[in-house]
Amino acid sequence: MRSVYLAFLLASTAFAQQPNAPNWAQVEAETMQHFQALLRMDTSDPPGTEREAAEYLKQVLEKEGIAVEMFALEPHRPNLVARLKGNGSRRPLLIMGHTDVVNVDPSKWTHPPFSATRAGGYVYGRGAVDDKDNVVGGLMMMLLLKRMNVPLDRDVIFLAEAGEEGSTRVGIQLMAREHYPKIDAEYCLAEGGSVTRVGGKVKYASVQTLEKIPRAIELTARGPSGHGSVPLQGNAVVHLATAVAKIGAWRAPVRLNDVTRAYFQRLAAISTPADSARYLAVTGPEHRLVVAADHYFQTNEPRHAAMIRTSVSPNIVQGGYRVNVIPSEAKATLDVRMLPGEDTAAFITTIRNVIGDTAITVAYAARDVRPTTAIAPLGSEAFRAVESAVTRHYQTVTLPTMSTGATDMAYLRAKGMQCYGIGPATDVEDGPKGFGAHSDQERILETELHRFVRFQWDVVNQIAGARRVP
Ligand SMILES: [Zn+2]
Repeated sequence: MRSVYLAFLLASTAFAQQPNAPNWAQVEAETMQHFQALLRMDTSDPPGTEREAAEYLKQVLEKEGIAVEMFALEPHRPNLVARLKGNGSRRPLLIMGHTDVVNVDPSKWTHPPFSATRAGGYVYGRGAVDDKDNVVGGLMMMLLLKRMNVPLDRDVIFLAEAGEEGSTRVGIQLMAREHYPKIDAEYCLAEGGSVTRVGGKVKYASVQTLEKIPRAIELTARGPSGHGSVPLQGNAVVHLATAVAKIGAWRAPVRLNDVTRAYFQRLAAISTPADSARYLAVTGPEHRLVVAADHYFQTNEPRHAAMIRTSVSPNIVQGGYRVNVIPSEAKATLDVRMLPGEDTAAFITTIRNVIGDTAITVAYAARDVRPTTAIAPLGSEAFRAVESAVTRHYQTVTLPTMSTGATDMAYLRAKGMQCYGIGPATDVEDGPKGFGAHSDQERILETELHRFVRFQWDVVNQIAGARRVP
């Protein structure tokens, strides 16, 4: 007991001497408490019902003396905004996380999806890595900044938003359109990045500075209907199947931008000679080498194949309703992820030409479309802060990345905000095992959640903390 007490005394003395170092043991306990509480709320979207999570955050923040505002298009789906004032010498920093999660199939989960079970060093639950990790990180930043009375040059704003997973009209669209002054900032930190571990060791950190733009294209095949006992050449299902097969075999041309070029060059520097040669080849001028690298990516590194082009994935096929009826119509929906700057009109013409079948109409279909945006600069103060914190906390290289998926940062970048996607470390082996974001199960390493909070604390202090008097 005595030695424990002494250790406590020593720790609190060290704490007293370093007013900017939180008591990390306490912070970890508190982080875990809030994280589990949030994971236990079923905020599946649809239908959303993020209110419970927003109310929880509100109560925690208000107890700490931090004022909170709620903005809702639908009463059960509020967005929460809290702000800590800086001295105004620099423009605000926004920290953002979304409270909704994607749906679950509970039968696929070993630990129930809203149980926040702690087992084997992990916390299991829907939202564990998308995006209640960022929500709890943002919450802890607010609590710590306030408690420790950290002098700030910038206001620090926390936005816990609803509807990121497919109903952005109640979330970021509402905030960007109706309440933008409440969240307007120079820089924003949100989801979309991560630290990748391979074999339990940190390999690199990804910081999202750009993202692809999701679109949907619908193929509609039309033909004569008839009795299934008399096959017809114009069968809509056959036409559609042929078109889908052509699209499946086709690839849009390889095109790089500043982010993907920097990404592959930096990745090459930390890769094996064979991998490195391919990463440099796709950034190089020699067509033959680009094709070879691309071919390898398609088989072995599909995410890289998706990063270097506008991608198309046929994901829904509908047609027919009875075995003995030839249907007059069949439809397929293509998930298109456009590179920023893609010419949408020219692209759909290309798709029509690839299919080359007048029995099929090709058109863009409705989707939660995000705006196309500029790249968050790699030379900004915020990016440098993130990069140096990555070095300190993860001892690794920072790769600027373009997400193949979409995030709500697109709406803020469209307004000129410089947004950077960050996230905790995950094991590369975890995704294929089915524990990643949107998987049948989802989990996070406890140690990595806590390291992420320390990393974020460092980043936020560097970006928003008052500059020291020399
Ligand atoms: Zn997310």
